[in-house]
Amino acid sequence: MSSNQHYSFFHSVERSFDKAAKFTKWDLGILEQIKACNSVYQMRFPVKLDNGKIEVIEAYRVQHSQHKSPCKGGIRFSDEVNQDEVMALASLMTYKCAIVNVPFGGGKGGIKINPKKYSTYELEKITRRYTAELVKKNFIGPGIDVPAPDYGTGPREMSWIVDTYASLKPGEIDAAGCVTGKPVTQGGVRGRTEATGLGVFFGIREVCNMPDVMQKLGLTIGVENKKVVVQGLGNVGYHSAKFFREAGAKVIALAEYEGAIFNENGLNEEEVFQHRKATGSILNFPGATNLAKNSDALELACDILIPAALENVINGENAPRVQAKIIGEAANGPCTPEADEVFIKKGILCVPDMYLNAGGVTVSYFEWLKNLSHVRYGRMEKRFTENMNTHILSQIEELTGKNVTESERKFIMHGPDEHDLVHSGLEETMINATREIMDVWKDNPEIPDMRTAAYVSAINKVATSYAELGIFP
Ligand code: GLU
Repeated sequence: MSSNQHYSFFHSVERSFDKAAKFTKWDLGILEQIKACNSVYQMRFPVKLDNGKIEVIEAYRVQHSQHKSPCKGGIRFSDEVNQDEVMALASLMTYKCAIVNVPFGGGKGGIKINPKKYSTYELEKITRRYTAELVKKNFIGPGIDVPAPDYGTGPREMSWIVDTYASLKPGEIDAAGCVTGKPVTQGGVRGRTEATGLGVFFGIREVCNMPDVMQKLGLTIGVENKKVVVQGLGNVGYHSAKFFREAGAKVIALAEYEGAIFNENGLNEEEVFQHRKATGSILNFPGATNLAKNSDALELACDILIPAALENVINGENAPRVQAKIIGEAANGPCTPEADEVFIKKGILCVPDMYLNAGGVTVSYFEWLKNLSHVRYGRMEKRFTENMNTHILSQIEELTGKNVTESERKFIMHGPDEHDLVHSGLEETMINATREIMDVWKDNPEIPDMRTAAYVSAINKVATSYAELGIFP
């Protein structure tokens, strides 16, 4: 993966950017400013481990762009974290937010640790110290830079961050908005946990509902009965698999570190998850066949391949063996520019990360808005809507002399709660973003692939925003 010495993730992002920049009208200077990482903060701090020894921790926060405030992006805990990776991921956040019209600049953080090797108490100390370092340098705050979960982190880490921040900033009324992906009890929003996977599903479903696109790929319209392979059974992979299965697709293979499993009749992600929890491995799942290597799953014959783990898993070496018709990049940067060239030649549609996995940041935006407005979604209108629906329904029943069924009645009367509103806001966002990118692509048939179309759309938005800020008169 990113341990590959010659692979620079940031350089890959720059290459994809340059490929797209040719299809825009912006001056080189503006393009250079968009591409550059504005601030890179590399830090080292000591942590006393449970055994009494002191370890020096290496960590980063990168703010790629401040064309909108705050900066936004997750924090990853991984052995593989390095400056190049965090810079690449921060850049992707800028473009991602632009595409889905979330008014943030891009940021990203990383701590170079394998979280599995530390106790909960040690992880808490590392996370709190990291947050304190960010506060000291003014690198965190609801109007400055707002972290979120990423690979190796989740709601627990976010609650440590908000608690540390709030205690160092007494009286800051909007402190809860300093980080997103928090537990609901700590100011989180309902629907954030499954957001990225659900966004992946909404994006791919929209692509599969486009008759011209499906015709070109030789596929039938809709996701139903499509054969799906998911690599990674973390939060994003798990939820992507879940929503595809619930929509009638068949998840024929799942892959994790230890290997991959295959069942042409379809796998249930929750059962596989429980099996992994009980046995420590997804292998030997009842009814499924083990694949020799986890990477073999990427090369299976299927309709949709969802890489949902780390970057650089499909590259120039294995791309020629990929048999999927559609690749949905649920992870950040799973396919390299070399792989993109292969997909173009083979007619594979690669639906790019920078918008497809934007569900997470989109719902983070909803969470941040909730924190700034200090009110739960639905609180003001749920009851009102239900009363109004009851009234309308009783009028219809009276006028027609007919009654709807009990289940219909429940459905019609239901006023939206936070979960409903977040899911529907996400659905709207992903559908619009998919159509926007496809329109850019249709408007310029010279654009070779969907990633380039997505970059063109993002560059145009960020450049317009810089221009409007008056930085480039
Ligand atoms: N880490 C996620 C991503 O890569 C979410 C970021 C956020 O919610 O700010 O998009």
